[in-house]
Amino acid sequence: MDETWLNRLRADDIVLLDGGTGSELQRRGVAMNRDAWSGVAAYTHKELLREIHADYIRAGAEIITTNTFGTSRFVLEAAGLGDEFSRVNALAIEAAIEGRDMAAQSAVAIAGSISCMPPGLDVAAYPEATKERDGYRELADVLAEGGVDLIALEMMEDTRHAVMAMEAALEIGLPVWLGVSCRFAADAETLVGFDFPDTPLAEPLDTLLPLGAAVVNVMHTDPEAVAPAVKEVRARWSGPLGVYPELGDFSAPNWNFTNLMSPEDFAQTAAQWVSQGARLLGGCCGTTPDHIRALHDALPDLLEAR
Ligand SMILES: [Zn+2]
Repeated sequence: MDETWLNRLRADDIVLLDGGTGSELQRRGVAMNRDAWSGVAAYTHKELLREIHADYIRAGAEIITTNTFGTSRFVLEAAGLGDEFSRVNALAIEAAIEGRDMAAQSAVAIAGSISCMPPGLDVAAYPEATKERDGYRELADVLAEGGVDLIALEMMEDTRHAVMAMEAALEIGLPVWLGVSCRFAADAETLVGFDFPDTPLAEPLDTLLPLGAAVVNVMHTDPEAVAPAVKEVRARWSGPLGVYPELGDFSAPNWNFTNLMSPEDFAQTAAQWVSQGARLLGGCCGTTPDHIRALHDALPDLLEAR
């Protein structure tokens, strides 16, 4: 297990993550699946996925994330690929490892993504609890066996599904990143779960933080909401902190790359998050290798902002 990144974070250094993978597959021409979103891409477009991982490393990413956001058994079953669960995930892990072998000039870690994505991104479509829990456990096991260095929990937004995913991730013994995702409620002030408008961000934070994470990330959150979200995290968490926001918006199953913040503006905005304590920086949906390259180019300013 490569823990270079963790030692760097402990030393107050800045570590760069990759940008969006699912949205980048779409941007490069891959049709998103109605039920599994980008989850089947390793199966249908492994070489392109490997190239995207490699491009992020060339842009400066020191940690890349497997395209396994939508590859739990219950999601793949909805997409008609339940029997291919092992193969889809093996290909996704291989694409990351091979992308690293192609492009890495120094240590690059691989984060295994686990989300609570329901089939079709429809929160009414979760399977019953035992099946859901087994789905997270099975994916965590496959990622660990495949050789990922850590588990990145992504879009944790509630206290029911996220707890199941986090417990499954913690069971395998790798470092676990807790990634929370939020947006402003109608009052333009309260932060609520990205897909759970009735759940204040404070609820998953208060429930999940005591379970124990290696890093807490504010991710897949609009840049406007990042600073207040980091503030809420910081009120409860003094450990390593990361930020990787989304740019654009989603109309299932497609990402809309409209009114994107430029890479240069993105890197400038990131200095504020660094001043709030963020040391792990990257992007989520809508961000591209150019955004990561801009963060890399801005490193002297970002280090200054600490
Ligand atoms: Zn995202």
